[in-house]
Amino acid sequence: MTIKSGGNPMLGLIMNRQLTITSILEHARKFHGDAEVVSVTADQPLHRYTYREAFARSARLANALARLGIRPGERIGTLAWNDYRHLEVYFATSCAGFVCHTINPRLFPEQIEYIVEHAEDRWIFVDPAFVPLLEALKHRLGCVEGFVILGPAGAAANTTLRNAVDYETLIAGEPDTFDWPALDENSACAMCYTSGTTGNPKGVVYSHRALVLHTYACLMPDVMSLSAREVVMPVVPMFHVNAWSIPYGAAAVGAKLVFPGPKMGDGETLQRLIEGEGVTVTAGVPTVWLALLTHLDRTGKQVPSLRRVIVGGSACPRTIMEEFERKHGVHVHHAWGMTEMSPMGTFNSPSADFDTLSSEEQWAQRLRVGRPVYGVEVKIVDAAGKELPWDGVSFGALKVRGPWICAEYFRIGKGDAHDDEGWFETGDVATIDRRGYVAITDRTKDVIKSGGEWISSIDLENTAVAHPAVAEAAVIGAYHPRWDERPLLCVVLHPGEQLTREDMLAWFEGKVAKWWVPDDVVFVDGLPHTATGKLSKKDLRERMKDYRFP
Ligand code: ADP
Repeated sequence: MTIKSGGNPMLGLIMNRQLTITSILEHARKFHGDAEVVSVTADQPLHRYTYREAFARSARLANALARLGIRPGERIGTLAWNDYRHLEVYFATSCAGFVCHTINPRLFPEQIEYIVEHAEDRWIFVDPAFVPLLEALKHRLGCVEGFVILGPAGAAANTTLRNAVDYETLIAGEPDTFDWPALDENSACAMCYTSGTTGNPKGVVYSHRALVLHTYACLMPDVMSLSAREVVMPVVPMFHVNAWSIPYGAAAVGAKLVFPGPKMGDGETLQRLIEGEGVTVTAGVPTVWLALLTHLDRTGKQVPSLRRVIVGGSACPRTIMEEFERKHGVHVHHAWGMTEMSPMGTFNSPSADFDTLSSEEQWAQRLRVGRPVYGVEVKIVDAAGKELPWDGVSFGALKVRGPWICAEYFRIGKGDAHDDEGWFETGDVATIDRRGYVAITDRTKDVIKSGGEWISSIDLENTAVAHPAVAEAAVIGAYHPRWDERPLLCVVLHPGEQLTREDMLAWFEGKVAKWWVPDDVVFVDGLPHTATGKLSKKDLRERMKDYRFP
């Protein structure tokens, strides 16, 4: 695509300061030095210090990395939970001109091996809990020179990983300042691989510029709305698309940061951190909120300071939103994005006319994933590529473009999803309403094709989980001799609950179109999940491949 000047030859006369993560570090150090960072880590139940100390230690780490001979642009891998040491690695690597490559420890070992070798990570920073995982691979990760164990002095004593050193020993004795290089804003800053539900994982390389613009966008009032007076707890992992940019945004505005470390899925720890540290806003995938809500229900404990929860990564059921609101006075924002989008695409905050809408209209709006964040363009297209209307009903492939969206994959180039006009096809199927609110109806590969018509598996799942006896539900298309595919509902019940197939199917009456009602229900003990905690329809389809409708 060529960019035309539009006939305006006059240039703006503004300083061309580069947009880099280093500028966030420097700003936070000067203006928010006293703001706190509180972490649960493997070796400390509650570690507490300030941004000033965090960035002094980042400088020490940068000195240590320079001493190890890391060259500009080289990748430093991390396999780590959300805590202060991981934060220091984030800033030290990116600001020193290296690339912070976060790796999802929940991936299969073969995927981790592939990713490390494909990215050519030179050193890997690893939480003690994930050391055995790497030890099993150590004869293969040939590109990796050494491993830093994210723990206190002595933490590397018992590992068989080559050139292993513990984090505290590595940075001890290094100076508290570092001469951060002046970086090109288009240089690589961080890297994250897609989870590769089909084929090998693909590397997305974020530039400094992309992440700074993304940080500005996420901070806006109708997006995450962070400020110096907020206390933010990212429960979304730092190995999953930069924890949705919260570490950068919190530092930029001086919000207190609270990290749950390895206790991310533990309702008790989350409640204790929220109450003890005064957390006002938190963010994560739907499943972690189930753990918290169940814990609150069981113990009668409260989350008094909490005002907002940002839920994304997969569809947030209405039940989670309602429970947060009715029982705890917490507003739930639905958000949508993906690894290729840094990740923020859309964010749900109320429209200007929200108060004039009926309660059902308000819910219809809130269940959508929100409007594109300024900077992101969206469109939906049919199978022939023709743009579809924004009527809230027509659904088609969702395409996006913008300054923080992946232009090509690392060492692959443009994928099939990139078109010639600069749009990226998300792999999601969506509707857009007249106000611009997007609803994700499915992933392209999960949509159920029944007699040439499409049925949204997500809508059916949301309807199923609204039943009080249902803990989790997944709908897949199963082979049907007449219709090609028909919806098959797989349900996990809450402990102690009972439900018949007929009662479950009757629940759909009047809630979805008649021809959308699943043809059968299978009650299961559990459903398969991906490394990022999402339902794995691919594994479920595999598990149910011999299923035939009665
Ligand atoms: P991966 O694709 O590797 O599982 P991503 O984090 O990149 O991990 O996932 C992006 C996908 O997750 C989106 O394309 C979409 O299908 C799904 N997703 C993200 N947020 C939502 C949401 N709020 N509602 C429904 N689906 C979502």
